[in-house]
Amino acid sequence: MADVFNPEQRKVFYGRLFPYSLVCRWLSAGRTDMAQREIAIVKISQDRGRVWLRYNGYATSDAWRKRVMELDVFALQIGAVYNLPKAIQKTFLRREFIIDIDLNAYDGLRTCCTGRDICPLCWKFVVCAVRVLDYSLRSRGFIRLLWVFTGGRGVHLWVCDTKAGVMSSTQRAGLLNALTWRPGCAMIYVLPPSSALTLSQHRCVSLEVNILKDLFLTIIVEDQKAFLTEQGLAALLAGISSEHVKKNLLQLWEHQGYTPATMWTDVMKHVGDWCQARHPGVRIRPPIGRIFLQFLHPRMDGPVSREDTHLLRSPFSVHSATGRIALPLHKDFVLDFNPCQAPTLNSVMQELDDAGLHSRASRGAGEWEHTSMGSHVQVMRTLTLQLEMDQYTQAPDAGEHIASFFFPPP
Ligand SMILES: [Zn+2]
Repeated sequence: MADVFNPEQRKVFYGRLFPYSLVCRWLSAGRTDMAQREIAIVKISQDRGRVWLRYNGYATSDAWRKRVMELDVFALQIGAVYNLPKAIQKTFLRREFIIDIDLNAYDGLRTCCTGRDICPLCWKFVVCAVRVLDYSLRSRGFIRLLWVFTGGRGVHLWVCDTKAGVMSSTQRAGLLNALTWRPGCAMIYVLPPSSALTLSQHRCVSLEVNILKDLFLTIIVEDQKAFLTEQGLAALLAGISSEHVKKNLLQLWEHQGYTPATMWTDVMKHVGDWCQARHPGVRIRPPIGRIFLQFLHPRMDGPVSREDTHLLRSPFSVHSATGRIALPLHKDFVLDFNPCQAPTLNSVMQELDDAGLHSRASRGAGEWEHTSMGSHVQVMRTLTLQLEMDQYTQAPDAGEHIASFFFPPP
């Protein structure tokens, strides 16, 4: 683990590798309100405690970097855009809609790690969350999405579309609600939509199920063997709507030596038989979509999404506990990303050494190109160009169709 308390390394990192200019371009994206964006700095006090410096804004990347270099900075956090910089009475103007996925929310289902640990096996829960939310948000018209490895046990999603930025707290809560699966949405996989669900809701959740079923066997049955845990068994039973089937399965598992694989075979058979008995003469797939949702649907930190003024770790900031760098991820390569081998403060310093740059005086911007941060910087650069093009090619769509995007059109 990296020594995140090493002030010399932090000074080199925040002085030479943190891409201030690009992060400012991403945050303002063609606008001129960077000075009104809250940038919080977490610095180290003399007794090695942490001091939060809040409600500061910087008009330029140079001003931001200069301030950081004056302090022993521990981490950088990003807040909202307000009407005035450094004013006590502020009015919220905009901020990205943000989602926080932390593997802690999957404890009880993930058996490979506990607490702060993370490995490529439990990272697959994050892969599921990324795939489902990417689909769900795009189907609702949100297309400017930045996924960022937190440096800890999960990912942050920054939804950067203009219409996301101007949502009120109530609208953010509404969107979060629409993205959250609840057990009440039962029997939605192959049976006709219930009266409680609109056709578009039904279609949306059915497609989410299709995304999850590809990874369900690998993650839940093979990797985690989650049916053998108390919480996993409860989730499995909660995904089966027939009390009769549940009772039969529990009786079966009382008497035979079983494995997660045989348990899954039992579930498929008993749910299938029950379904066939209710629909004689009709070929129908077992309604097991609810089980996939129960285990793998994204588990989001609600307050982070609902509060429009919530601070979030800046991309490329160093995680205070692990020393890993918060890195933008391309959505198609999240499965290939290994969080255990993600760049740390120590490793990027080593890469600077290997490139013969560590001992030299700073050469200015762009030194991250010589480190493993390079491809991740490119992810943010690509999104930033798209956001800047949006500003030049579209009239601001503040508030437009706010009510209609909670569910996609039929
Ligand atoms: Zn793990």
